[in-house]
Amino acid sequence: MNKPRPHKKRRLPALGDVIRGSAVIMERVCGSSSCRCLKGHKHRSLYVSQYHKGSHRMVYIPKANERKVLRLVNNYLILKAAIYKASELNLGRLMAGYRKKDER
Ligand SMILES: [Zn+2]
Repeated sequence: MNKPRPHKKRRLPALGDVIRGSAVIMERVCGSSSCRCLKGHKHRSLYVSQYHKGSHRMVYIPKANERKVLRLVNNYLILKAAIYKASELNLGRLMAGYRKKDER
């Protein structure tokens, strides 16, 4: 495996690589009477928590997809922060334009 290198270029994640929501680890017991989860070693599963069509939902993520989903949820934060920043900048530019007009 290649070592992950720190990013020098700031490139935004692609829309094909994003999942909206937050990652939540939930602990549960499976119901089997012989399982060690009954002795406190609960099963841990990843869920994506998000608002969807006006209500809250939790989407179960199978173990095999956990790493990928964590990355995609993090991409959502990166994109959201980038949109926030761009929006502030664009609004600021727009308002600077208004002020110029008023000065005339
Ligand atoms: Zn169990």
